[in-house]
Amino acid sequence: MTRPLPDTLAGWAEAPRVRALNDRAIAAGGRYVLCWLQQALRAVDNPVIDAAIRWGNALGLPVLVYHGIREDYPYASDRLHRFILTAGRDLAAGCRERGLACVHHVDREGRREKGLVHRLGNEAAAIVLEDQPTFVARWQAERVAARATVAVLAVNAACLVPPAVLGGDIRGRSGFLRRHEPERDRWRASEAEVPSVSPFAGPLPFAPDDLEAVDLDALLVGLSIDHGLAPSASFPGGRAAAEARLRRLVDEVLPAYAAVRSDATRPDGASGLSPYLHFGVIGPREVMAAVDAAKAGAKHKAKFADELLGWREWFHWQAHGLRAPERYDRVAGWARDTLADHAGDPRPDLETLNALVHGETRDESWNACQKQFVIDGWMHNNLRMYWAKRIIAMTPSPEAAWATACYLNDRLSLDGRDPSTYGNIAAMFGSGAPGRADVPIYGVVPTRGDGSTRKRDTGPAWLRAAAERPVPRLTVPATPPVDPYLTGEPGV
Ligand SMILES: Cc1cc2nc3c(=O)[nH]c(=O)nc-3n(C[C@H](O)[C@H](O)[C@H](O)COP(=O)(O)OP(=O)(O)OC[C@H]3O[C@@H](n4cnc5c(N)ncnc54)[C@H](O)[C@@H]3O)c2cc1C
Repeated sequence: MTRPLPDTLAGWAEAPRVRALNDRAIAAGGRYVLCWLQQALRAVDNPVIDAAIRWGNALGLPVLVYHGIREDYPYASDRLHRFILTAGRDLAAGCRERGLACVHHVDREGRREKGLVHRLGNEAAAIVLEDQPTFVARWQAERVAARATVAVLAVNAACLVPPAVLGGDIRGRSGFLRRHEPERDRWRASEAEVPSVSPFAGPLPFAPDDLEAVDLDALLVGLSIDHGLAPSASFPGGRAAAEARLRRLVDEVLPAYAAVRSDATRPDGASGLSPYLHFGVIGPREVMAAVDAAKAGAKHKAKFADELLGWREWFHWQAHGLRAPERYDRVAGWARDTLADHAGDPRPDLETLNALVHGETRDESWNACQKQFVIDGWMHNNLRMYWAKRIIAMTPSPEAAWATACYLNDRLSLDGRDPSTYGNIAAMFGSGAPGRADVPIYGVVPTRGDGSTRKRDTGPAWLRAAAERPVPRLTVPATPPVDPYLTGEPGV
């Protein structure tokens, strides 16, 4: 059901990013427009914030930007919390520069704030939040919209082209590209909204955490989260780190991107932007503006655009159309059938979850891949394909393989829990057409070897060194959790 937008947003150039999540009215007497950010943790080029400012200006109300982080979301760890809190700290500074109040809450013992979003929403004229299709953000948004007594709008900030303008019923990536490519130019530029009301300075129903003033490492120590998984040294959080990655893309990566992107042994082959894109520290519009302005050759720019827009936004579009993009039942029916037919096949490559988590299996190449996840919190694209395919043979059943791949990706990788996580894993479990050969365990799901790395001159030495990197000891459950994001119900 499509609900009408308020006039001021219906007439906005960015209106296709916005949808109404409930039928409630704007609350007369509301003190602000609440802008609740879950994942789009940037103050600039952020359509969620822009929508809130535009609405606030029309109502003569300030915007209150709120971001909270709880201890009980699946896989909460020093790694994820540190990345998020650093982004939150920079979000606060950026909002201040834009003339907006931004408050944070870090949930912890002695500082619980039950139902804080609802309480903030009760004081608001209206709520603007993010339209995220996966992980906790989706059902938290739906829950808030169902309980709120005021109007709630959801805004897409993750994609250059809002998925809604592409319509439904797209079969395959080429069909997607036929609709997506002609739309791109229209969304490449946007104008930042300027608040016409002074920043909100009224009383709040809680004592916010000042992330710019606290020592984030000291704050982490007191939290009840996974302290075994350390922050990533290779991917520090924050806006400065995202901007440095973008400069590196333009200066070092892009000039040879099409040629070296698939070479995992090259440190300058890929942008390493995915963690920052996942947490919205930087958005695709800003990345594409830098790419368009770069001096690199056209084929390199086109290849990059195909990854960032043609693949990433394809998986976002898919996730928006699925009720549960994280579930095994999204894998193509023919692939689930053939994997089920072979579920009883002998599995000589079975590994324990402990060996898988720590990258200590009998497969050196697989260990090299997995150690990037454990140590760096990121994995090279080419390695991810081999990594995911092999998990099917290393686990007791196709369902266990799916749960294991999602668990490793979501727990360890900074860019996990994303539409690209589940979309890509699903593609590795079988997408497009079945292969011709029917082989043990995989059936007609095409297999994949490690040749794209091992057959390079430096490949064997690189794989050996990568597989030998020492890893920290992590806690490991008896079995990987199945869809923990769909069964848990942390309050908001
Ligand atoms: C099994 C498997 C699991 C994956 N899990 C994730 C995940 O959890 N999160 C995630 O963001 N990506 C995931 N990917 C996609 C891709 O591997 C990563 O986005 C990419 O490796 C990130 O590194 P980069 O930023 O250096 O990429 P670059 O090569 O620099 O590409 C630029 C950007 O394009 C996008 N992109 C590139 N390749 C893909 C792709 N195959 N699908 C979608 N977007 C892409 C990413 O946003 C990336 O940051 C997965 C791929 C596979 C095969």
